[in-house]
Amino acid sequence: MPELPEVERATRLLRTALEGRRIVDARTLHPSAARALPPQAARSLEGRTVVRIERRAKYQLLHLDDARTIEVHFKMTGDWAIGPSTLPPPALERVRFVTHEGTRISLVDGRAFAVVRVHEPGAMFLPPLGLEPLDAAWSADALKAALARKTGPIKPALLDQRVVAGLGNIYSAEALWEAAIHPRARANRLSMARVQRLADAARLVLERAPAARYYGQRTVDDGHTYALGDGSDETWHVYDREGEPCERCGAPVRRMEQAGRSTYYCGRCQRV
Ligand SMILES: [Zn+2]
Repeated sequence: MPELPEVERATRLLRTALEGRRIVDARTLHPSAARALPPQAARSLEGRTVVRIERRAKYQLLHLDDARTIEVHFKMTGDWAIGPSTLPPPALERVRFVTHEGTRISLVDGRAFAVVRVHEPGAMFLPPLGLEPLDAAWSADALKAALARKTGPIKPALLDQRVVAGLGNIYSAEALWEAAIHPRARANRLSMARVQRLADAARLVLERAPAARYYGQRTVDDGHTYALGDGSDETWHVYDREGEPCERCGAPVRRMEQAGRSTYYCGRCQRV
């Protein structure tokens, strides 16, 4: 699944190809994509100019000159494939935009869970989102305040998008390891010093993350530029390392289920 740094990378790539351009061809190419973007909604985009593209958590938001907004969420395996429209279309193409410059921007998606949806002007469609660790306003005070009403364990609290936007399961586990905080520690009982360590760690793990983690979708060079999919494998301190020695203290990394998600941690140096 694309994590926050990769969605940021995808947003930047999309901006270079689509921001300020007019859409001359828009179509839905797969039944699952058509549930969110019916053919007539796709056609209504033709002739519109994309005036601004922004990212909020893992949502890419394409603002149009008629004040409508296109919401894009990659979900599990979504990606952009961008190239001249004279190239044969990429494999797994689900939604297509062609600009007046002849650039084709394709949403490619093996699992076909990704969402492209058009919203009317002023529509409130995003869920409530807290600050992101890479926001300028991110701070220990802000995190402490966001955790004040979370009486449960810290790890699921970090996955609540109203508390922290876009951190995700992997980087939540990594941030807790960096901060030496046990995933079961009570969220609203963390001391200010530990919240400070956690706020710093959450920023650190995202800043350090490669922007193009490999997740095996693309196997051939077909001439398109992809946002994701051919980057480096990332190595983690605890995530997906059950049984391996903790890099800090040597104790074996453990795994447990927490709120339905796998959580990895060191039972010795991460303290409740
Ligand atoms: Zn340890």
